[in-house]
Amino acid sequence: MEDIDLLLDLHKKADRQGPGGEAETRLAVTLSGLSDRKNLKIADIGCGTGASTITLAKSLDADVTAVDFLQDFLKELEQHAKTEGVSRQITTLEASMDALTFGPSTLDAIWSEGAIYNIGFERGIQTWRPFLKPGGILAVSELTWLSDQRPSELEDYWSREYPEVDTASAKMALLEANGYTPVGYFTLPETCWLDNYYRPMQERFAGLLEKYDGASDARALVEAEQAEISLYERFSAFVSYGYYIARKLPD
Ligand code: SAM
Repeated sequence: MEDIDLLLDLHKKADRQGPGGEAETRLAVTLSGLSDRKNLKIADIGCGTGASTITLAKSLDADVTAVDFLQDFLKELEQHAKTEGVSRQITTLEASMDALTFGPSTLDAIWSEGAIYNIGFERGIQTWRPFLKPGGILAVSELTWLSDQRPSELEDYWSREYPEVDTASAKMALLEANGYTPVGYFTLPETCWLDNYYRPMQERFAGLLEKYDGASDARALVEAEQAEISLYERFSAFVSYGYYIARKLPD
């Protein structure tokens, strides 16, 4: 059994595949300054089953290209878009986020919630920048230390899982060093992690283990997710996703 099958089984029927929330996507939209603009072209990269894609389509006058490398997620997204009445505004694109073929300076905004870590924050902001029009908006959420000091158990875990984890000031410095100016920042509240992501996932654990008859890799996946959840519950004061909204500066 492929790991990918297990991950799809655990996450495909979820509203979201990472921490986030509709109110937080809307807040990022407000901070982006795009709300009054017309005919926007936006890419939502690593969209999963499309929670943010659908909020973007509902809250902006925009065509949104929803990009993910897992076709199963995109199929779910298309169903959600139909149910929500926003299919006309959304095009799905099965592609890897490190090999995108948007034209130079063609996008008004690039969105990416909880996904840029797959190629790394700095590589992501560098790779995607050419696709943005001058003055275009980058809006990404990214694992972020909430303070310069944190418990070593938490630091060890996330530094192992995602070596680029850092403070907001360090992430903003990277934006500034790579041709962007930050225009907004906030952190995701606990409800985005617990109520919107971890609790619904925990409810799917039993079904997953039953489906795979308690196979060792299914158990390992559940245990790994549970370990991450327990760590978050203990140390949520020190870590969250930062939501970074930045504008592309001229070359
Ligand atoms: N943005 C969604 C959300 O917040 O619910 C999904 C976040 S999930 C943690 C990360 C997403 O990135 C998954 O849907 C995964 O399939 C996608 N992904 C991972 N690596 C990718 C890659 N190289 N190219 C495109 N998508 C990728």
